[in-house]
Amino acid sequence: MSFGQFQDINNTFNEDLQSFNKSICDCQKCSLGKIRKNFVFGCGDPKAKVVFVGEAPGKQEDIEGLPFVGRSGKILDENLSLINMTRNDIYICNVLKCKPPQNRDPLSSEVDNCEPYLIKQLYIIKPKLIVALGKIAASTILKTKEPLKDLRNKVFKYAGIDLLVTYHPAALLRNPKLKKNVGDDFNLIYRNYLS
Ligand code: URA
Repeated sequence: MSFGQFQDINNTFNEDLQSFNKSICDCQKCSLGKIRKNFVFGCGDPKAKVVFVGEAPGKQEDIEGLPFVGRSGKILDENLSLINMTRNDIYICNVLKCKPPQNRDPLSSEVDNCEPYLIKQLYIIKPKLIVALGKIAASTILKTKEPLKDLRNKVFKYAGIDLLVTYHPAALLRNPKLKKNVGDDFNLIYRNYLS
């Protein structure tokens, strides 16, 4: 979605996160609405300076209705602790608000339906920075096929807001060698946007 479209939507924005969640949590725009246990809107500080955006809820997130509460959430918490932060200091959400079956990648039609929700959340929160967690979040948000390693350490713009890309916490479970890179990314976030 272009910034122009974003601005058009902005004109109708006059809500807080809670009432926005209430207005969309029964969404049936795509077939994921029929199979979800919970709509996973997002959580954290509604005035956060940094918003972390993952791909889509997994099994545990679907059960609890909260983002990043499973194994990768634990890694995300560990990464945040590297910069003396907790999930209460930031905001966390996903590109898709409902769990895809068998944890498959989001379909482009699902992203098209759900992305305006993300953009509106960002408009309400007005963070200084968005951090896309992992290749799927980054490529769907930035509409790029570039590999994740080429997207790190670059400042992009999304909906008029700075955006950085780092590895998905689950990637660290598969490849612990990436911990150093992610540590560097979190330090960059801290130095440039939080200190
Ligand atoms: N992976 C994601 O991308 N988001 C979650 O909320 C959980 C796991």
